[in-house]
Amino acid sequence: MKGDTLLDVSDLTVRFKTGRRFLTAVDNVSVDVTRGETFGLVGESGSGKSTFGLTVVRAHAPDAGRIVFDGTDISNLSDKDMRPYRTHMQMIFQDPYASLDPHMKVSAILAEPLRIHKIVPRSEISEKVTSLLEAVGMPAEAADRFPNQFSGGQRQRISIARALAVEPELLIADEPVSALDVSIQAQVMALLNDVKSRFGLTTIVIAHDLALVYQVTDRIAVMYLGQIVELGPTAEVVFGPQHPYTAALLSATPVPDPDVERSRERIVLRGEPPSALSPPSGCRFHTRCPIAQDVCRDTAPPLTEASQGHLVACHFAGQIGPVSVDLPRSVDP
Ligand code: SF4
Repeated sequence: MKGDTLLDVSDLTVRFKTGRRFLTAVDNVSVDVTRGETFGLVGESGSGKSTFGLTVVRAHAPDAGRIVFDGTDISNLSDKDMRPYRTHMQMIFQDPYASLDPHMKVSAILAEPLRIHKIVPRSEISEKVTSLLEAVGMPAEAADRFPNQFSGGQRQRISIARALAVEPELLIADEPVSALDVSIQAQVMALLNDVKSRFGLTTIVIAHDLALVYQVTDRIAVMYLGQIVELGPTAEVVFGPQHPYTAALLSATPVPDPDVERSRERIVLRGEPPSALSPPSGCRFHTRCPIAQDVCRDTAPPLTEASQGHLVACHFAGQIGPVSVDLPRSVDP
């Protein structure tokens, strides 16, 4: 484990039984996240990215591999032994409405974790609730209202406040803005970025939208059918993708300039992702890859370093050709 690594996940595998078969949702994934870093995990639905996040916070048990958090191996801790770590790792989800009890006022929603985990003395709970609301840009009066009295963006702010209540070190945001209007998405991403700096958090942002993850992350990992296919510094992955799948995701991202958008070439992938129940042989991407060769069908490419800190799993890394990307950053990471 490196010096300032907060989270060190190695060879993580997570399987689910579906009927008489096993689905490998996360297959041998290794990721280390440095303290203070914002790490992005990108992939289509079914790529295993959410299962990865849920397993890190131990909502799922890993089938193999190790999860080391702040120097402690938490992979196999019992629920009881895991309890002290749960406050250090918080997760927010796509649908804030589903995760906020509609029958509780916001004051009660925020006070509950403060009370359970004894974050502040009882006499200071009300003051702390107000400061949490302020931290996420909500007025103190919001405390007296119910979740259904707020917009989706405001509810996500309340979810973030609740996550902050227990003073976590690691915040995992799983599709934090995909249920929100486009006009609100940048505001919530900016808020995540802001609270990350102010509260000294380490953050993992999980999303299907590479353009969105690009806004706030230091490094990005791209997942396909349970495996990481590319991992590296955000600017390198976005402006110099080495893996054909990353290049395809980028080429599907609309660019703001309509002239560029009209004239640029897209990488069109064949078909839908195969089922994780029976992933293709060799390179799992070979059934859709525009530059696949015979070797790709038989031999799985290992994740290897293309340049320092930039890992790619492809026999023909970097050969997909340039992708025209024009992504302005609306949030300063
Ligand atoms: Fe495409 Fe082959 Fe690279 Fe897989 S290994 S991404 S099929 S070129």
